[in-house]
Amino acid sequence: MKQPPRPNGRPPAFTYQPSSKKSVGHIDSSLHGDQVALSLLAKRYGTPLYVYSASSIRQRAAAFESAFRKVPHTICYSVKANSNLAILRMLAKAGYGFDVVSGGELERVLHADKGAAKKVVFSGVGKTREEMKAALKAGSLLFNVESASELRALAECAAQARKIAPVAMRVNPDVSAKTHPYISTGLHKHKFGIPISEARYLYAEAAKSKHLKVAGVSVHIGSQITDVQPFSEAMQRVAALVRDLRADGHKINYIDAGGGLGISYDHDDRSDFADKVGGYAEALLRPLRGLKLHLLLEPGRSIIGPAGALLTRVLYKKTNGGKKFLVVDAGMTELIRPSLYQAHHQIIPVTSSDSAKQEVVDVVGPVCETGDFFARDRQMPEVEEGELLAILDAGAYGMVLASNYNTRPRPAEVLVDGKSSKLIRRRETIGDLMRNEI
Ligand SMILES: *Cc1c(COP(=O)(O)O)cnc(C)c1O
Repeated sequence: MKQPPRPNGRPPAFTYQPSSKKSVGHIDSSLHGDQVALSLLAKRYGTPLYVYSASSIRQRAAAFESAFRKVPHTICYSVKANSNLAILRMLAKAGYGFDVVSGGELERVLHADKGAAKKVVFSGVGKTREEMKAALKAGSLLFNVESASELRALAECAAQARKIAPVAMRVNPDVSAKTHPYISTGLHKHKFGIPISEARYLYAEAAKSKHLKVAGVSVHIGSQITDVQPFSEAMQRVAALVRDLRADGHKINYIDAGGGLGISYDHDDRSDFADKVGGYAEALLRPLRGLKLHLLLEPGRSIIGPAGALLTRVLYKKTNGGKKFLVVDAGMTELIRPSLYQAHHQIIPVTSSDSAKQEVVDVVGPVCETGDFFARDRQMPEVEEGELLAILDAGAYGMVLASNYNTRPRPAEVLVDGKSSKLIRRRETIGDLMRNEI
């Protein structure tokens, strides 16, 4: 298949293609998701609208498969990054496993594919007994335990259910992930995991219970980590622990290396994703050499982030004291990352003209919060009221963090695949929002 042009160095998910309509004197091009014009999707389904590229999701997941092909491994897609059932179904069909952090996410996975439980890793710092029982009943692959109390609770649940729970301690390796403080998890000051120095004691406790089966060691140091060094440091500490645990007589089959591989939200990054995953794999695998293990990986953002965009329409242009604003119909209710993490997202017009002038604007939403913005003092091509913008790299931690603040119904989601597109979530209605209120 012929590759579409990549004017902005974007990965293949969202690319400009020449428009059929040419205005006199200059060339217009229109943004597509795979081969589908985003303007058509906006017309059909309205805005704000999330659009995901199935081919891109498949390619990115396959890049992980390929990078780790030399060792026994299972890619367990992190459901919390984007939990739409159609996406889970697609990944389950392709044979991937899942990392879940709640009973709700487990139910989603089972709804997408009943057989997927044997590849489900259950993580999370505050699992309830009900959630543990559901995961035991489903037959989950591994429980990542985060405290001594949780270990006791899991043993009790397993005893009641007459099951044996396969466990890994999520250790906190005390390495700095060099990412935004809100998404860094691998230091002792964070709530996550068990200090690695206390892990041996807990493994000994676990081995005493006939309802627990020590199976692995797990670690997850944070998210949006773009330097592979912290992953390598964490793995060195985990490898040392595995050797100690084996010397203590424990059977350690799994290392769960967590997720966290970052993506570039910058428009001028042209590096190849497969190369990036290759470097990540090397950083993880080198410290593990010689240890016979099955590696579990929990990528979320790096698979789904760049495969999604949020489409929004410019409602109004206004100028306050010389400052220019584009007020758009999406806000922090649809995509909270800029407000929550000071995250940068590239924003591009859906119809691009080679003759467009540039201007400096704030792109803001309609929500009654000063923090409701997508970009501040951003230079971008001039657009008119009514035009469509695409907020790129919005596939991960976008829709899953959407809220109904200001009684705003959550947006629809569409999955494009080559030339086809399908609605994978209907837009919420105001009726939906009021349904449970008495
Ligand atoms: C959030 C999370 C992930 C996924 O992280 P990404 O940065 O999206 O790859 C993996 N494992 C655990 C335990 C998590 O909490």
